[in-house]
Amino acid sequence: MRPGLILAACGLAAGAALFAFAGQNGLWLAGAMAVVLLAGAAMMGARSTQTEVAAQSVVAHAGGSVPAPPPVLRDVLEQLPDPLMLLDQGGRVAFANAAMRAVVGTDAERKHVSAVLRTPSVLQAIDQTTFTNEPATVEFVFHVPVERHYLAYVARTAHSPELTTVLLHDLTALKRAEQARADFIANASHELRTPLAAVAGFIDTLRGHARDDEAARTKFLEIMNLEAQRMRRLIDDLLSLTRIEQNEHVPPSGEVEIEDVVRDAAATLGALAEADNVTVAIEAAAGLPEVAGERDELIQVFQNLIHNAIKYGKTGGHVWITLSTSPSVYGRRGSTMVRISIRDDGEGIPREAIPRLTERFYRVDVKRSRERGGTGLGLAIVKHIINRHQGRLVVESRLGEGSTFTVLLPARAPALSAPVTEVI
Ligand code: ADP
Repeated sequence: MRPGLILAACGLAAGAALFAFAGQNGLWLAGAMAVVLLAGAAMMGARSTQTEVAAQSVVAHAGGSVPAPPPVLRDVLEQLPDPLMLLDQGGRVAFANAAMRAVVGTDAERKHVSAVLRTPSVLQAIDQTTFTNEPATVEFVFHVPVERHYLAYVARTAHSPELTTVLLHDLTALKRAEQARADFIANASHELRTPLAAVAGFIDTLRGHARDDEAARTKFLEIMNLEAQRMRRLIDDLLSLTRIEQNEHVPPSGEVEIEDVVRDAAATLGALAEADNVTVAIEAAAGLPEVAGERDELIQVFQNLIHNAIKYGKTGGHVWITLSTSPSVYGRRGSTMVRISIRDDGEGIPREAIPRLTERFYRVDVKRSRERGGTGLGLAIVKHIINRHQGRLVVESRLGEGSTFTVLLPARAPALSAPVTEVI
C-alpha cells in the first residue's frame, strides 16, 4: 500500500472511532483528518496524482464525497437565501442548499459539478480557483426557463477538508432595473426631442422665408406654444413620477373625504369635457367612510383617470363616476374598501394592452395620445400613487364599447371607542 493510502486509512479509522463517540461530527472529522494526512503524505514526496487517487478512495469510503457538514452547519447553509454549494476535491457536489437546488435541480449532490452547472465560464472559474487557491468571480446568464443573471463567487477553504465554495448572487432584479432606467432615459429624451425639434424648426422658418409673413407668424407661434406646453406637461409628469416613487414606501398620513376629492378633480376638467361635448355624471353612495391618504395625490389620480375617460371617450359621449364601498378582498378581515369606478363609452382597449397600460410611455395608439396632449405617463403615476395608498387598480374594457377604471382604496379604520369604566 502506498504511504498516502495508509495515512488515509489511518485517518478514516480515527474518524470512524470518533464517529462512534461524536455521531455525524465524527464523520466530518474523519474526512478532515484523512485530508490532512493525505496532505502530509503529499509533502512526504508522494506524487500529486497518487494523492488524488487516495483522496478519491477516501471519498468512496466516506460515502461518495467529503463527509457532509454537521447538522447545525447544514441547517445554517440550508437557510441562506443565496444559492450555495460545496464541492469536494474531485469537483463533486458535497452539499447544495435549498436555494442552489432550486437553480441546479434537487439531485445535484454527489454529481460532478460539470453535470449540474453547465456554464463554461463558471466551470473555468472553479478550475482556476482549485488550481491557484485564489477566489474568482464570474457573471453568467441562464436563458431558460426565464432569463436570470447571476454572479458566481468561487473560493477554496484555507483549511481541511479542502472544499470549493460556489456562491451565486442573483443579479436579475438589478439588471432589469438597469435596463428599465436606460429605457426610461431613452424614452424621455425621445419624447422631449420631438417637440423641441418642432420648435427649433419653426424658429428657423420665422427667421428665414416667413420673416415678413404675418399670417404664418401667428400660425407658427400658436404651434410653438402647443409644443412648449407639451414639453412642460412632460417635465411636470416626469417630476411627479420621481417624487411619487421616492415616497412610495412612506404610508400617507392625511385623511380625505373621497367624494370631495373626486368632485374637485372632475370640476377641474369641466372645460375639457364641455369642449368634447362629454357629460360627466357622479353618483355617490351615502355615508362613505374616509380614506387614509394624501389629498393632492388622490386628486392627481382621479384627474388622470377622468381626463383619460374624456380624451379616449366618444365625442358627445358619457363618463359615469360611481362611489361605493365593498368588503376588502385582502388585508384585515372585515375591513372595507372604498370603490371609485370611472366608466366611459369610448373606443375601449384591446385585451392584450391592458396589462401594459401602467408602463411608462406605453400607449395603445401613440398618434392619438399625442394629438390629445398625452404624455404616456398618466397611468404610471396613477399606479404608483395607488400603491402608496395600499389600494388596487382594476381595468375592464370591451373594444368599441368603452372602459371602466376602478380604484379600490382601504377605508380608514373607525376610531375604537374607549372602554367605559364605571366606578361605583
Ligand atoms: P396618455 O398620456 O397617453 O393618456 P396614460 O398613461 O394616461 O397616457 O394612458 C396610457 C394609454 O392607455 C393611453 O395612451 C391610451 O392608449 C390608453 N387609455 C387610457 N385610458 C383609456 C380609456 N379610458 N379608454 C381607452 N384607452 C385608454
